[in-house]
Order: sequence, then structure tokens, then C-alpha cells
Amino acid sequence: MSLLKINDDICVLCKRCISACPYSALIMDDGKVRLIPDKCQMCGVCVTSCPVKAISFDLPKASGNTVNLDDYSGVWVFGEMENGELNPVVYELVGKGRELARRLRTELEVVVFSDSFDRTQLTDYDIDAVLFVKDQALSAFNEEVFANTLSWLVGIYKPEVILCGATAIGRSFLPRVATTCHTGLTADCTSLSIDDNRQLVQTRPAFGGNIMAEILCPENRPQMATVRSRVFPPAEKIPGKEFELTELILPERFAQTSAKRISYTPEEKRTSSIADAEIIISGGRGIGGREGFKLLEAAAEKIGAAVGASRAAVDLGWYPYSHQIGQTGKTVNPKIYIACGISGAVQHRIGISSADTIIAINSDPEAPICGYADYVVIGDWKQIITNLEQIISEQTA
Ligand SMILES: Cc1cc2nc3c(=O)[nH]c(=O)nc-3n(C[C@H](O)[C@H](O)[C@H](O)COP(=O)(O)OP(=O)(O)OC[C@H]3O[C@@H](n4cnc5c(N)ncnc54)[C@H](O)[C@@H]3O)c2cc1C
Repeated sequence: MSLLKINDDICVLCKRCISACPYSALIMDDGKVRLIPDKCQMCGVCVTSCPVKAISFDLPKASGNTVNLDDYSGVWVFGEMENGELNPVVYELVGKGRELARRLRTELEVVVFSDSFDRTQLTDYDIDAVLFVKDQALSAFNEEVFANTLSWLVGIYKPEVILCGATAIGRSFLPRVATTCHTGLTADCTSLSIDDNRQLVQTRPAFGGNIMAEILCPENRPQMATVRSRVFPPAEKIPGKEFELTELILPERFAQTSAKRISYTPEEKRTSSIADAEIIISGGRGIGGREGFKLLEAAAEKIGAAVGASRAAVDLGWYPYSHQIGQTGKTVNPKIYIACGISGAVQHRIGISSADTIIAINSDPEAPICGYADYVVIGDWKQIITNLEQIISEQTA
């Protein structure tokens, strides 16, 4: 259902909205601009193209959930733990969180859920406080319990902003928190800033990466966003910086859960992690199959690289999902990214835009990756990689 409103009294029939609409959802009918609701995707292009502001969003107000925005203050970073250690994305969010907190003239706090926490992990970081909820029920991730716990804290402390890594954990429990707190959540933000009205501007790719959307949460709090790892640089340490640690006990009712943990199987990782690699050699559909990836692994070992994959290769079952790069995989920022048999669809490019140097190996000079890469080698990937290996072996012999 479309929620656009056209005010015929204001409309000057300039038809700019009709030409601007990418979905042909606006037409002239009986001397008036009319909307075809089934075609409208609510992209808002018509709203911004109208010179007289005759088109607006007609969004229903959230009933009974009005909040006093002034009651909320503070920027929180969710301190996700992985085997007793803070996930590296937490340090990246601390850096960005400090910038936002400074602009809002408020405090930056890290919230940790676990059965134990070593505070030295945050020593010398520029944070004001750590809220540590200690409970055995929080020793391993449980979506229900984590969501209950964070929603409980939001009710007590009323933070203005919550940032969380767009990890498997963040992605799974934050939507529950947003629903419970009657607020919004923007996933996979690539940029965050504060506007002149103290609102968190949450930027993320939309419509298959073709536009960057700036999303606001004007009427509800907290403003919640997830961010993938390596989108922001890690926070710098400030030697001697101290923070206040508050330890809280989880009320028993929040530890109740209908889920039971039966076993834990670590994610399959074939080569070193693509998240930290300085060189990544990736394969796509053009690699031709699992055997192709074995050759890539051998080459990666020789040049000290990690192996990545396009979604097409992962969907075909040629390589594990934990190595997928792109919009629905991981964002990477290696010094060198070598794309073998990858066409370079926009959803893949989103994941490699921070790579220092991109080398494309492709048999098709017209493939989009060839227009995007810093260096392009045209030809069969197998032959080129074999030649590369040989050159490296000769030089290191
Ligand atoms: C919502 C959404 C999310 C998505 N998320 C992701 C994502 O996270 N990551 C991702 O990668 N994709 C993602 N995709 C899919 C994306 O649109 C592409 O379909 C995908 O990236 C294509 O993978 P590919 O380049 O391996 O395959 P193809 O597009 O089929 O390209 C294969 C390439 O190999 C080349 N080639 C063939 N043979 C050889 C050879 N012998 N030597 C050298 N080159 C050769 C061809 O010229 C071609 O350029 C997403 C799509 C959608 C709609």
C-alpha cells in the first residue's frame, strides 16, 4: 500500500514528479496527477522533485507510543563478546560513538552482557562508562534473553542512540529490541552523523545499492543502528583515560527463555579470516566449481592471502558463506583485492569499496568489474593465477 498524498490544491501540474518517478507510478488522469498505488515503491523521488511540495508522505502516527525526546540522552555501544573477548567491531563503534556523543554533548557508554568481563579490554579507550549486566544466562548468546535485557536497560536509562555491530548476533536480537521499545532500527549503516536537530542520520545503501538512503527516526527513541565491521576505523587509545564500571544483576524474569542451547558448532573457515586479511583472492561463478576454489586456496597460501567468494559461488555451494563478500556477506578492506571470475555486480562492489587496490582477472573485458578495478587482466583466471604463482615462486626462490 502506498502512503503518498497528493494535494491537488497546491499541484501546479508541472509533471516533474511523473518524469522523475522510476516506477511509472504517477500519471495524468482527468487533468490531475494520480498515483497508481500498486506501482509505488515509496522511494520518495516524487516528494523531492515537486517544486511546490504538493506531494508528501502520509504516514500513520504510532498510536500510544509518543515519547518525550528530551528524556533520552547518551550514546550506547553494544559490547558484543566472542569467547570472552570484545568483538573488534566494538572498538570501531566506540570511535564513531565518541564522535556522535561529542556532537550531542552527551556521554558514551559501552553495554556488556556476559557472566564475566575483563575491564582491561576497554582500558585507555575514550568512553565514559560501562554497564555490565552479569548473569550466567548471558554467558552464551540467546536472542530472547539478550533482547529482554537490552529492552530492560533502555526502559531504565533511556539512551538516545544505540549502536551495535551488524554481526549475526546484532542482526538477530536488535530487531526484537526495536519492536519492544516501539522504535526504529537501521541495519548495515555505512555512515552515521548528527544533524542540526540532534537526529541521528543513518546512511545505508538502498534499492540494490543504487542509492544511498539517509534514514531518520524523528519521533521515537532510542535511535538504533547496526554497522558492519571495518566500516569505521577502530578508536584510538587515550592513555590514562578512565571509565566508570556499573555492574548490574539481571532480574530473573528477563532470563526466562523458550530456547535451549544444545550444542555449539564454530563457523567453518577454510583460510585465514577475510576480515583482517591484507590480501584477498576471491572467486566467483567464473571459477567453475569447487575444484577452482582449491586452486585459489593453494595460490592464496603462496601469496599469504585469504580466500573470498561472490554470492553466486556461495549459493552454488562452492565455498562457505563465512567467506562471502558483498551486501549480504562481509565488508572487507584489504590492501590488495584480486577478483577472479567475478563480474562485479553492485552488491559485490559494496563489500570491496574500501580495498586499497583492486585487481580484476576476467575473460570478459566488458564485465563491470573491469571498469571498477585499478588493474585489469583479461584472460582465463586459471592460467593467469598459475603464471602469478610461478613468478612469485621464482622471485622468492
Ligand atoms: C539483495 C541482493 C544481495 C546480494 N548480495 C550479494 C553479495 O553479498 N555478494 C555478491 O557477490 N553478490 C551478491 N548479490 C548477487 C549479485 O547481484 C551477483 O549476482 C553476483 O555477485 C554475481 O556473482 P559472480 O560475479 O560470481 O557471477 P557472474 O555474474 O555470473 O560473473 C561471472 C564472471 O566470471 C567471468 N568468467 C567466466 N569464465 C571465466 C574464466 N575462465 N576466467 C576469468 N573470468 C571468467 C565472466 O566473464 C563473468 O564476468 C546480491 C544480489 C541481490 C539481489
